[in-house]
Amino acid sequence: MPELPEVEVTRRCVAPLFEGRQIAQLRTTRDSYFFRTKPRALQRRLKQRTVQKLTRRGKYLIASLDDGSTLVLHLGMTGQLFGEGVSSPRLLSATARASLDPEKQESFKPDAHTHLQFEFADGGPRVFFRDVRKFGKVHWLAPDQEDPRLAKLGPDALKITGRQLARSLSSRKTPIKSLLLDQSVLAGVGNIYADEALFHAGIDPRRAGADLKAEECQALVKAVRRVLRRSIQTGGSSISDYINPDGADGQFQDERCVYGLTGQPCSQCQSPIQRLRQGQRSTHYCPACQI
Ligand SMILES: [Zn+2]
Repeated sequence: MPELPEVEVTRRCVAPLFEGRQIAQLRTTRDSYFFRTKPRALQRRLKQRTVQKLTRRGKYLIASLDDGSTLVLHLGMTGQLFGEGVSSPRLLSATARASLDPEKQESFKPDAHTHLQFEFADGGPRVFFRDVRKFGKVHWLAPDQEDPRLAKLGPDALKITGRQLARSLSSRKTPIKSLLLDQSVLAGVGNIYADEALFHAGIDPRRAGADLKAEECQALVKAVRRVLRRSIQTGGSSISDYINPDGADGQFQDERCVYGLTGQPCSQCQSPIQRLRQGQRSTHYCPACQI
């Protein structure tokens, strides 16, 4: 599932293909739950609009259009947003991929899962939104309209300050691990990054949010930023992974200290990494380093 780093890597890749270009036409698949704005309306609203800026909030991508309206894109579980001409063998099934040698892998052709095809007035490369499982979403917003999901989001995980975090944790008895995953506290932290950040900050995942001291909130936002930035960097160097439907987190996987490493010795103290259930999720931590 794309997490903040993958969404940010996607944004950096496709922003140059969107920004400053006028949309000539949008092709879509038939109406489905992917479309929070109906295909017809979407086609009408986007025709001849110029994309001014592509930004990100949490895991949402937001295209600002020249008439003041916005287009909100969410990659969901398997969404892929990419430009034409990307040679992407990972878009093919494993068997199809195995039967092709690298030189013969053609660039992507829109298929039945390609829900959005942006065509531009300059006739240059198109941009595709493909989503096999359709958990992704597209939503057009009028200039004065607000997306209720966006309105509920807390500060972006890369931008939140220690003080902001301390304030929103101040009366919470919920374990800090669960609060890190709460998108209204901070937007964009998934399970792997929450576990890794708590390890780097030396904080026990079971502690109540309100129990964290100001210095600990400071250390935690720094750790969150560190793991996210590092993942963005490695995601940038293994760019094809972000369009991999089964994809994990690129090379960041190799740099994990606790996530998915139950029973292995901690890199700092050699104690075995422990696993526990919190809410519906697994938490991995070092009982000696995290207090
Ligand atoms: Zn340890």
